[in-house]
Amino acid sequence: MRTRFAPSPTGFLHVGGLRTALFAYLIAKQTKGRFLLRIEDTDQGRSVEGAVENMLSTLHWAGLDPDEGVMMRKGIVAQEGTKGPYIQSERLSLYQKYAQQLLKDGHAYPCFCTPERLTQMREGQMARKQAPMYDRHCTQLPKKEIEDRLARGEPHVLRLLVPHDHIFTYADEIRGEMTFQGHTVDDQVLMKSDGFPTYHLAHVVDDHLMEIDLVIRGEEWLSSTPKHLLLFERLGWTPPKYAHVPLLLNADRTKLSKRQQSVAAEEYIQKGYLPETLINFLALLGWNPGSEQEIFSLEELIGAFSLERVQKAGAIFDLAKLDWLQGQWIRKLPLAEFADRLQMLTAERFPEAAHDPHFKDKAALIHERVTFLKEGPDMLAFFYVDPKVDADLLANAKQKVTKELLPKILKVLMQTLEKTAEKDWSVETLKENILAHAKKEELTQGQLLWPLRAALTGLPYSPGAFEVAVALGKDVTLTRLKAAMKVS
Ligand code: GLU
Repeated sequence: MRTRFAPSPTGFLHVGGLRTALFAYLIAKQTKGRFLLRIEDTDQGRSVEGAVENMLSTLHWAGLDPDEGVMMRKGIVAQEGTKGPYIQSERLSLYQKYAQQLLKDGHAYPCFCTPERLTQMREGQMARKQAPMYDRHCTQLPKKEIEDRLARGEPHVLRLLVPHDHIFTYADEIRGEMTFQGHTVDDQVLMKSDGFPTYHLAHVVDDHLMEIDLVIRGEEWLSSTPKHLLLFERLGWTPPKYAHVPLLLNADRTKLSKRQQSVAAEEYIQKGYLPETLINFLALLGWNPGSEQEIFSLEELIGAFSLERVQKAGAIFDLAKLDWLQGQWIRKLPLAEFADRLQMLTAERFPEAAHDPHFKDKAALIHERVTFLKEGPDMLAFFYVDPKVDADLLANAKQKVTKELLPKILKVLMQTLEKTAEKDWSVETLKENILAHAKKEELTQGQLLWPLRAALTGLPYSPGAFEVAVALGKDVTLTRLKAAMKVS
């Protein structure tokens, strides 16, 4: 199937947009089809500089690169494919052509109504509790007057003539059979007075010429679908299939809004979520796999996804679930990859981390403890900077490490560790030696391990004492123990 994602470049990529793109991508890949990217910039006033680059880089980050259409090539926005251009503002003559055809065939008509008249009309309808829609004032104008006004170049729009007695039905891939009464469908503006088409005309022309098989888009377009189906019919084309995906909701079931949480995909990238996490999370927003499985890679989603299992009801954007998935995905990353991604980040703060041959061992110690990669550099800081320790940190009431006992404990540790040869410097040997000594000196394991760990890391919580000592090596371990003895 040929599917497409068709964002308007009005700013950042909304998480809802990213989910729509994901669904369209999954269906294209699942059916060995193509995933297109088209830019819908007919509302020139709303276009934002840099938005296209931004959206493309977010899609790339998520792993959803298009097969055709608008894409990044060597850092610049390019277009690839035989059905272009794929940017609507470069296709104006096509829309003009089909608009003229609709006009000629009597399926569209010019409307000269001023914005003031339309506002007045709408206010009147609302006061009468009627749904606001165009009252067809301009369909009543004498033919001659229409011709004269057009000839004079009077500003006007082009509207679609919707047959009021028509009943529109179609089968939505998510919502099933949908029916709309023609008299409830507004005579949609197709061409604006500035010569630009509206979304309604432009995307119908494009979806036809780009041979799109399935349109996946937000629920907000559901009520416009009859107009689109009518356009296909009037132009003599077969419409694609439609799937309207459910709204994203805040926890209180109101429509997902900036006021309650971030809606820009980019903000989730900045917060440090992995692409795997966000993709997994978005897939589950509205889709359920019909099994207990919750963790899905993009590859697995291609296999498992189906529109039949997408719900109609709004999907709650549950941040707790997002964080849970993030923890799962961080731990699922193979150690080598986790270490690689973390190494770059850590080297930004501690340049020596970039060339640390033991970085992977250090990363291994925190793999189970981080939820976000960006927590890593802090947790690893003690490897690169000597920690500040004092007696308050070294003592610990729960472990029965009193300040009075500290000098003795540290001495025992020092003696044991000094005696352990560099070649035996492993978790097993250190453990064995220290525990043997603990017994002899009538100290508990906790009494030795808490001060050792605290002396080496300067932290109340960190990976275990033996692991840290091994990652630091014998020299640094002894230096830090000495420093701890000085403050005790
Ligand atoms: N440009 C439209 C939007 O951003 C696209 C809707 C569609 O996919 O047809 O909402």
